Amino acid sequence: MTGTIDRLVEFDEVLTRYEPVIGLETHVELGTASKMFCGCATGFGAEPNTQTCPVCLGMPGSLPVANAAAVEATIRIGLALGCRIANWSRFARKNYFYPDIPKGFQTSQYDEPLCVSGHLDVEVEGRTYRVEIERVHLEEDTGKNLHVGGATGRIHGADHSLIDFNRAGIPLVEIVTRPVPGAGALAPEVARAYVTELREIVQALGVSDVRMEQGSLRCDVNISLNPVGALELGTRSETKNVNSLRSVERAVRFEMRRQAAVLDDGGRVVQETRHFHEDTGTTSSGRSKEEATDYRYFPEPDLVPLAPDADWIETLRASLPELPAARRARLQQEWGISGTEMTWLANAGALGLVEETVAAGAAPGDARKWWLGDLARRANDTGVELGELAITPAQVAELSRLISEGTINDKLARQVLDGVLAGQGDPTQVVQAQGLAVLGESDELVAAVEAAIAGAPDVIAKVRSGKVQALGALVGAVMKTTRGKADAPTVKRMLEERVLGS
Ligand SMILES: [Zn+2]
Repeated sequence: MTGTIDRLVEFDEVLTRYEPVIGLETHVELGTASKMFCGCATGFGAEPNTQTCPVCLGMPGSLPVANAAAVEATIRIGLALGCRIANWSRFARKNYFYPDIPKGFQTSQYDEPLCVSGHLDVEVEGRTYRVEIERVHLEEDTGKNLHVGGATGRIHGADHSLIDFNRAGIPLVEIVTRPVPGAGALAPEVARAYVTELREIVQALGVSDVRMEQGSLRCDVNISLNPVGALELGTRSETKNVNSLRSVERAVRFEMRRQAAVLDDGGRVVQETRHFHEDTGTTSSGRSKEEATDYRYFPEPDLVPLAPDADWIETLRASLPELPAARRARLQQEWGISGTEMTWLANAGALGLVEETVAAGAAPGDARKWWLGDLARRANDTGVELGELAITPAQVAELSRLISEGTINDKLARQVLDGVLAGQGDPTQVVQAQGLAVLGESDELVAAVEAAIAGAPDVIAKVRSGKVQALGALVGAVMKTTRGKADAPTVKRMLEERVLGS
């Protein structure tokens, strides 16, 4: 496995012979205060092995109790995905030996999951793709292995390994799609759009912080290729723990190109798990994939079955928040923008920022202009997310107000923006501190206008002989001496009054 360089087929060429089928398994770590089956705390980043107890360490004789808040959160996710909520559901033991599983099995759900048969619609390049959800079930997270001494952080080449059980037993919701055929060349984008939308839904529900970089949302990406026209599904590979939205897209793309090369050579795609490498955008072989029968699932004898009450489910359904798709549709209408513009806003991560800026008093068009224009450019230049820029929606709204009131113009606004981003305070403070306000008909402006007239007798002669447009040169001169702080229409009017006496 290490050392082999995969032959790849060009992406466009893959599609001439094969149809990709994708499938996604997404794990969401719930943000409950305590773990799934014990009272241990769940905070991220605590000292290793300080958030543990006999239950989550799998000590003999300890007994689990299911976390009601986690069950509720799972049902809410299921409802948001249009799933049917089971009226009878059980936990099961998934048996496998791995150092970060202290019990020797993971408490999960098998044939009786909490939620089944939902769907999520995603939009890519103007087309809607329906991703069918097979199941949403509840389980517990594993601990974390830390391999020390190797170059890659993987076990190969490591001197020794450490285990942190703080994460062991944190509630984990797994959302499994059915195979998604028919996306063709857009398969990588559809996979990404699905995870993006799912992440937004979970965020809107407030049940997880869905931080991919901290692992609270993790994605396994399944891909297989069918020869065009074939009826049965090809063998799939499963790329594990893909840690960013961009990586989801890249992993699909890479696997499509790699599998096509294997199939072209008359080979067979091996059913296995693969690792995704962020640095190269490639995957490498992990372990051969177990079948469900390898896990020897059986019902968990230490936990009572879950039988959520129908009335409770209806109460939860009625209390769901506005979901992202509905919110986008509402805002699109309120702001009078096209679907394409809404997609840009959402993809740029600007939707919430624009919404807050509008709420702080800016016109929707102005709010969009700043966030998608100058601010997006600055975020891009400095390699940060839009929301991480050192400016708040309220400050953008204030900037916009200063422009509409005529205190500053667009050009000065960009300097004000620089000041705010540099931590010099609110826009009004920056305007005052740097003297950036547009000059009214002040002594300074009058002096600049009169100096321009005195310095260009030839231009004045031209204007008076009827070539009024020659005044433009003088407007330019005044703007220059006032370093852009003058308002051009005001300058033009002042010049006309003085030269033409009108
Ligand atoms: Zn515990």
